[in-house]
Amino acid sequence: MRAAIVGAGVVGLTTAVCLREAGVEAHVVTRDAPQDTTSAVAAALWYPYRALPIDRVTAWSAATYAWLAGLAGTDGSGVRMLPGTELMAAGAPDPWWRDAVPDLRRTSAGLRLTAPAVDMSVHLPWLVARLRALREEAGRNPDEPYEVIAELEPDADPAPYREAGATWWLVAPDWEGISVDRVRGAIRERP
Ligand SMILES: Cc1cc2nc3c(=O)[nH]c(=O)nc-3n(C[C@H](O)[C@H](O)[C@H](O)COP(=O)(O)OP(=O)(O)OC[C@H]3O[C@@H](n4cnc5c(N)ncnc54)[C@H](O)[C@@H]3O)c2cc1C
Repeated sequence: MRAAIVGAGVVGLTTAVCLREAGVEAHVVTRDAPQDTTSAVAAALWYPYRALPIDRVTAWSAATYAWLAGLAGTDGSGVRMLPGTELMAAGAPDPWWRDAVPDLRRTSAGLRLTAPAVDMSVHLPWLVARLRALREEAGRNPDEPYEVIAELEPDADPAPYREAGATWWLVAPDWEGISVDRVRGAIRERP
């Protein structure tokens, strides 16, 4: 099975790693390189914030916590577990996401918990290297581009991309008002 993922921020790259680990030939299609994304400037502390619905977000947060906690033991991933205290008014209710954290507890100082913290300047290149390693493990040529830039000019020839091993590409995207949905549509059409 093949999959195209739009976006090379932490979400797109992590999705591609998970898919490749599951045996899917995943390709990342992106406008900006990982170091030019919002992900690259994030403080990147795990902390659920203003998202709904609560039950789904708590479950997703728990899954993300577990994924990042697993990576914290991996050399070079840029993930570490950071213990800390959130100051709270006495009598304030527990946070709605408390079930997502294994070691959350109330103290006189506030809410004690350990949360994953990610150094994105290390983690994004680590994800890219992991994609490359997974492709190698799958027996594919490590020199092939894993991502296909989505900025072909209207008269550009996609042949070099194809020759370089690209599986998906976009032709003539109209950057005025372009949306991810439109990009998805263009990908499906294939030249
Ligand atoms: C200053 C700051 C601090 C933050 N701190 C935290 C924090 O502590 N904890 C936390 O959880 N979150 C934090 N965030 C939020 C976090 O950075 C984002 O939620 C997260 O990076 C989003 O990741 P993403 O992969 O979805 O998107 P992005 O990193 O924005 O990546 C989007 C990707 O999609 C591509 N793309 C977009 N449109 C197209 C298109 N039409 N065609 C092709 N490609 C396209 C882009 O080129 C890019 O590669 C912070 C954000 C900022 C700005």
